[in-house]
Amino acid sequence: TPSSQKLHAVLLSSPGIGHVIPIVELGKRLVTHHGFSVTVYVAGAASQPTASENKIIEAAMNPNLFDIIQLPPADISGLVGPEAKVVTRLCVMMREARPAFRAALSALAVRPDVLIVDLFSAEHLIIGDELRIPKFVYVATNAWLLALTLFCQTLDKLVEGEYVDQPMPLEIPGCTAVRPEDVIDPMLDRSNQQYHEFLRIATKLPMGDGILLNIWEDLQPEMLAALRDEGLLGGIGRVPIYPIGPLIRPPEPVSPDTQLFNWLDRQPSESVIFVSFGSGGTLSADQLTEVAWGLELSRQRFIWVLRAPTIKSGDGSYFDSGNGSLDMLSFLPDGFFGRTQGIGLLIPNWAPQVNVLAHRAVGGFLSHCGWSSTLESILNGVPMIGWPLYAEQRMNATLLAEEIGVAIRPKVLPSKKIVGREEIRCLVRRVMVDEEGNAIRKKVKDLQEGAQEALCKDGSSYEWLCKLKEDCKVRLLEEPTGKKH
Ligand code: UDP
Repeated sequence: TPSSQKLHAVLLSSPGIGHVIPIVELGKRLVTHHGFSVTVYVAGAASQPTASENKIIEAAMNPNLFDIIQLPPADISGLVGPEAKVVTRLCVMMREARPAFRAALSALAVRPDVLIVDLFSAEHLIIGDELRIPKFVYVATNAWLLALTLFCQTLDKLVEGEYVDQPMPLEIPGCTAVRPEDVIDPMLDRSNQQYHEFLRIATKLPMGDGILLNIWEDLQPEMLAALRDEGLLGGIGRVPIYPIGPLIRPPEPVSPDTQLFNWLDRQPSESVIFVSFGSGGTLSADQLTEVAWGLELSRQRFIWVLRAPTIKSGDGSYFDSGNGSLDMLSFLPDGFFGRTQGIGLLIPNWAPQVNVLAHRAVGGFLSHCGWSSTLESILNGVPMIGWPLYAEQRMNATLLAEEIGVAIRPKVLPSKKIVGREEIRCLVRRVMVDEEGNAIRKKVKDLQEGAQEALCKDGSSYEWLCKLKEDCKVRLLEEPTGKKH
């Protein structure tokens, strides 16, 4: 019976390393701390995983706790045009991946006990029904984003015209209102297909047995209360919310770049600012020039993960990050490399971010505010400069700067306007040398402590995963014929 046996959890990730990492980390946690067995499936993207993605997956597989199985890519070429936005592509890819996922599951010798899918795989919850097993969505981000996602259906009815053109912030009951310019990418243009795909995903979320978030209870208590309040967000409160985070990657076991770490070892404590824009973020050529000047003028030590500039939107390399050779010097101001020798390090395309953030010499992080990067920064006690580019990063940056208090940010949105060198110089100095930086550093270290406690045995996040396991067992016993909506 399910009460005595080891539960087998099947986890499904949408493509993209930023999606695979949280699912893999959840899988590890379920195996190492909660006695599950796990199989992770990753829906195939049209392009091959990049070298850096493979490296991360390899690191995740060491020690070998479970299998990660790549599903064959679905052919979506006839379904989406070349102009299709990221969310459209993800959602269509995932919808078309359902037959492959079903086939993979039915090939298993024994029916799994629980299905956990990520946000963009929410349309796979139905497979949990077909198998008559409990099913959950892991929304690997924070409560505010979940609240907006769930409430978007209501906003769709209430708000006329584009969200970005609203004169007032968008009210979400019980939560902080969202400034029009901060709305997530799929809400930027209501006539675009990706808006409708996003709305559709949002309607699926409450159909699972619960939603897992990558935060801990004490990070956003009010917003969690709003999500759990049956009256507030239109009855969504009946769906249990499990704040099980922060689950982040551990440092890579063998540090892959000795030159980088040899250099870091020689720098004073908390003296280096780390500059990186996530798995797919890129800057325009003009913005890249300003960042170079700003860093140089700040006279602070830095590590900068440098990517070729884009002329498109900031998510230009989402589906193919880390590939191709990089002639770094050609993007930088004349003489920059020589003038910053010994003060700064340029790393092409991809750095072992968690190892860098964990190093005692690193004292600041200029970040695009992806949620994994944010958590990695907090768990290493590193204050941030929020530099949001795309997806939900503008909301994350606002949350970090205005509610949680672990980041400062430029006056303009970097996704809209170029941030000039003088402002960048100031931001870097504010976080690295000014008194303000010390106050933020203290705040982030308090949060770091709270987060670590939540993950310990008897901590809230640990307990929420215990509860998840219990809830699975009860469901499996209670409803052997499956749960119906
Ligand atoms: N990452 C890394 N090296 C890089 C860039 C990114 O290791 O040079 C990792 C980072 O540590 C994080 C993930 O990639 O775990 C990015 O996830 P996040 O949610 O921050 O942002 P995304 O880029 O997916 O929007």
